[in-house]
Amino acid sequence: MREIEVNVAYRWFLGLRLTDRVFDASTFSQNRRRRFDGTDIAQRIFDHIVEQAIARGLVGGDVLYTDSTHLKASANKGRYDKALIAKSRAAYWDDLDAAITQDRATHGKKPLAPKDRQPPVKETKVSRTDRDAGYMVRDGKPKGFFYLDHRSVDGRAGIITDTHVTPANVHDSIPYLARLDRQRARFDLDVVAVGLDAGYASAPIAKGLEDRGILGVTGYLRPSGPKGMLRKSAFDYDPALDAYRCPEGQIIPCATTDRTGYRHYKSDPAQCRTCPLLASCTTNAKTQKTVTRHVWADARERVDAHRLTDWGKRLYKRRKETVERSFADAKQLFGHRYARFRSLAKVQTQALLAATAQNIKKIAMAKWPTQPQTT
Ligand code: SF4
Repeated sequence: MREIEVNVAYRWFLGLRLTDRVFDASTFSQNRRRRFDGTDIAQRIFDHIVEQAIARGLVGGDVLYTDSTHLKASANKGRYDKALIAKSRAAYWDDLDAAITQDRATHGKKPLAPKDRQPPVKETKVSRTDRDAGYMVRDGKPKGFFYLDHRSVDGRAGIITDTHVTPANVHDSIPYLARLDRQRARFDLDVVAVGLDAGYASAPIAKGLEDRGILGVTGYLRPSGPKGMLRKSAFDYDPALDAYRCPEGQIIPCATTDRTGYRHYKSDPAQCRTCPLLASCTTNAKTQKTVTRHVWADARERVDAHRLTDWGKRLYKRRKETVERSFADAKQLFGHRYARFRSLAKVQTQALLAATAQNIKKIAMAKWPTQPQTT
């Protein structure tokens, strides 16, 4: 407030004359609490600024980069209760249900019972201070209560075209396709390609992108699994047989398709029992090896191949200059390391206003580019 009183630039921006009284410090907070609580005002402001950027030719709309970053919630990580909570339902879940039913029918299996198609329920830590925050457990990240800001940035000038906040225990891939659709519909973007990090390298995302006619380039997802055991890549998939061939030449047929969309290919235990590779192949007590494959694995393999093309390498490299740079600026200059409020709706407003401020700055920089210093 003191800055508004003495800084003419702020007065100009707010439409205040030099002699006008500066409004009370609580004007913002009271407006937020009383007038705008429960409204979509922040989203509308954000959308309006994106439209201004589009009108000025700063948004290409053909290449979008998406990533997420965490904001520390205003909540002590040691103060929580445990509750059984169903995992989030992704936008692609209905399509996946249909694909599972079809796949099971192809393999002569009955459809799953409706109760088997519900999202799995998991024991989850719930903060006593901010119940909307999610307990984050991610490799290389701090543990505790956080929010995730899922942000998309346009490839032309780094304008943010979407920002969406979830609790930190929601996987990046869950909101992705719905948010992509929102941007295409709201701003009439003709998205041709997207660049995503390895967290988005999943069969449902690959299938969703192919269905929308969008080329996806995702980061390399390092295979995980116990040390000293055969990798999945040691088993060759034969599409003609719809079966895997193991390193010892055994054909492993499909046995079933589970409710998460994975086919289970199961070996013949009688053949495995005498196999010299048994110890490094499976620890199963019945000496039966199971290899899993998602019903949309073909789409995933096609999308994975984009990463190795020249255009895919060029496109992926720009993630650093676009969405990663956008997050770095947000954290360094716009207070985006911490959730300033409690509750999902308020943190969403914070993220929208930070992104709006970043976009306004980009528009201003494009309109009045900094001149090189001449001395
Ligand atoms: S244990 Fe069975 S599945 Fe594994 S390599 Fe040997 S024969 Fe093949």
